[in-house]
Amino acid sequence: KYEEEYFGKLCTRSKAMIDKAKEIIPGGVQHNLAFNHPFPLVFTKAEGCYLYDIDGNRYYDFLQAGGPTVLGSNPSSVREKVFQLLNECGPSTGLFHEYEYKLAKKITESMPSVEMFRMLGSGTEACMGAIRVARLATKKKNIVKMGGAYHGWSDQLAYGIRIPGSKWTQAQGVPKYLFKHTQEFFPGRLDSLERVLKRNELRGGTAAVFIEPVGPESGTRPLDYDFNKGVEKLCRKYGALLVFDEVVTGFRIGMSGAQGYFGISPDLTIFGKVIAGGYPSAGGLGGKKEVMKYLSAGISGGAKHKKALVGGTMAANPLSCVAGYYTLCEIESTDAPRKSGEFADKLTLGLQKLISKHGLPFVAFNQGSICHLETAGAMHFSIDWSKPWQIPKVLEETSARKQEMEHMGAAYMAEGIVTLAGSRLYTSAAYEDDMLTDILDRF
Ligand code: PLP
Repeated sequence: KYEEEYFGKLCTRSKAMIDKAKEIIPGGVQHNLAFNHPFPLVFTKAEGCYLYDIDGNRYYDFLQAGGPTVLGSNPSSVREKVFQLLNECGPSTGLFHEYEYKLAKKITESMPSVEMFRMLGSGTEACMGAIRVARLATKKKNIVKMGGAYHGWSDQLAYGIRIPGSKWTQAQGVPKYLFKHTQEFFPGRLDSLERVLKRNELRGGTAAVFIEPVGPESGTRPLDYDFNKGVEKLCRKYGALLVFDEVVTGFRIGMSGAQGYFGISPDLTIFGKVIAGGYPSAGGLGGKKEVMKYLSAGISGGAKHKKALVGGTMAANPLSCVAGYYTLCEIESTDAPRKSGEFADKLTLGLQKLISKHGLPFVAFNQGSICHLETAGAMHFSIDWSKPWQIPKVLEETSARKQEMEHMGAAYMAEGIVTLAGSRLYTSAAYEDDMLTDILDRF
């Protein structure tokens, strides 16, 4: 009620527009992250770490477009290159452009496991491509993912993700038989993964294990530091490909992604978000040559072996490739993952102090520039302060917390702050230390 009154008074133009939009847009908004409480706001400007709504209010932006803007929103260095491309070439041709090569080169140089790279339209599409490639490369059938992990909304991977506060999963409208070859294991449990892999040996084997390397839903459910090593070992033991979904972590955690941080060499890597710097379309599949050779370029008649079809009219358009290339160059030259991560460390520390000062039932933790403010009441955890990133070790979770952890969408969680509900806060290199006090005062 308080929020309704508060935002109702400050955001009259947003409210009026949303009321009209509901008539012609299902649910009122087009983007999943724009579903927020008490009503979606209309944003007209994003710059650095700030958002501005149609009523002229300014917000600290911890949503950061859902993750892609590690440099902060709309940096002029990238925008200028995009303008130049638009003046010269326009956004798309459907043909090869030099920046496709430059972007692919930057990505393959940054991550040693990625010997080849193919730009696609979205993270969802890249995951779909990875499934096909993995099946061709291994001649096995099943795909295994961790409970609560999000790998886009394709038929085969929407499996298991629950709609917050609902008994339904996000797989409504998907016939059950499409999940016949998708299995989940319990988050953070290697014994559970091995059970699934063993069972699959009798039913066509496991083609790939998909992992969000910082934990399901970008670390909302954190993992032990050594967990990914354990997954890698099990994949090798059972002949399954290890697919690292770095849609969130790639070029946010560091230039070499979460795989660099954990010292893992996955067979396939999924990219999205940062590789187009907040511009559309952001998706890519990379990996070892012997696996990537199963990917088609167009319709490949006469190939020596079977190839998986991937595509998309807008895939690898020059605009995304230019934006992505200059974004990655700037992330590297300004050390943006370190800068945004250090700010996140300080923000997390500040939140932890507030939590203990007021005795609140929350826990704050971060993995680089991905911060979480989670309800601790429903999660028993311990923190080993000697470990990097101070990630809580989850000892036990209630089912309410499990549902809550799958919450999606933006939230205005404190006056003048926009986050990803769940509650995740992405920082960017646009944040400066002198903003900390002002931000923490709002919680
Ligand atoms: N994988 C992960 C880990 C994600 O967080 C997302 C999107 O948030 C996706 C895949 C899907 O990517 P896209 O939204 O580009 O389809």
